[in-house]
Amino acid sequence: MPEYASATQLSQRKAAERDALEYPFDVPREAGAVTLVAPGVYWARMPMPMALDHINVYLLDDGDGWYLVDTGLNTDVSKACWRQLAEQQFPGQPLKGVICTHFHYDHAGLASWLMREFDAPLYMTHGEYFTMRALASSNAVVKEESQRAFFARAGMPLEQFQRMSRAHRKDPFVPDFPPSFIRLREGCRLRIGGREWQVVIGEGHSPEHACLYAPDEAILLAGDQVLPGISSNVMVSDVEPEANPLDNWLLSLQKLLTLCPDTLVLPAHGPVFRGLHIRVRQLEAHHGRQLDLLLERAEQGEAFTAYQAMGWLFQRELKSFELILGLGETLAHLSYLCQSGRMSRVTDTGGLDSYQAC
Ligand SMILES: [Zn+2]
Repeated sequence: MPEYASATQLSQRKAAERDALEYPFDVPREAGAVTLVAPGVYWARMPMPMALDHINVYLLDDGDGWYLVDTGLNTDVSKACWRQLAEQQFPGQPLKGVICTHFHYDHAGLASWLMREFDAPLYMTHGEYFTMRALASSNAVVKEESQRAFFARAGMPLEQFQRMSRAHRKDPFVPDFPPSFIRLREGCRLRIGGREWQVVIGEGHSPEHACLYAPDEAILLAGDQVLPGISSNVMVSDVEPEANPLDNWLLSLQKLLTLCPDTLVLPAHGPVFRGLHIRVRQLEAHHGRQLDLLLERAEQGEAFTAYQAMGWLFQRELKSFELILGLGETLAHLSYLCQSGRMSRVTDTGGLDSYQAC
């Protein structure tokens, strides 16, 4: 049997990982509070009514106007927060741009509202913008049928899929999509507040995630590309069932190792920190442990479904949307092992996939 870490070992590991990083600033806790993290760069938080209870957003002073990075969820609370922040930090000054690191709805959910409210353009990569647009306008029936087949193939019981799908349909935060955007590309530069920000693209968590890096002062607006305390979700979905996002994710982490080790990291969740390279190594180790666990199971000789493997990787009950993320994440690890020739996938006559050692 593979060696599972006990709950105590897990929490000790988490504490050791947390203590290995430095947190130079206090968290802005109340709505409307801001922390100045570098000249002209303000950190604020938007609340979220879910387990991950906040998203960090950043306001960049451009002298005669300002930019914002990531929007928060499409809720009235977030809208009130933005009105308050604009009035308090930049009274009478125009918002010059809404920059979204990626399309996930805690990052881009208010993009179209902010564009209208403040008459500002949206900055996003091509991959993120069009993914958001496609998801917002896709046919719900086609989407649900495709997901049902995908999850059945992974071994999820139909009744659990139906529960999950019902919960997902009630999701109140799905935004309308913004009508237009200005494209961010790898290496392109934005000059804001006398500082040059370079676009650094990452993959694996989302199709074409943009980080902004200021090389002169080593500051990284990281989005979800590197987070302290939690690992970003890396998942395979029904839209691209043969994808290998974990490979893309690990390569993108390598790219972050080319940035200054002392970089001040401004993540989308959790505290602002220093220790970029240490955090990248921690994340690599995390995925390495997940892969080892699956390989050890496979080496015991029995074939298993992705749904079974999800229970080993997560070791707790996952509900509704967590299930999509958890099963997708398990599939990402299995795809990585299959596509690197360390495991194989067999589909039975009923269409069920199982995984085994090569
Ligand atoms: Zn995200």
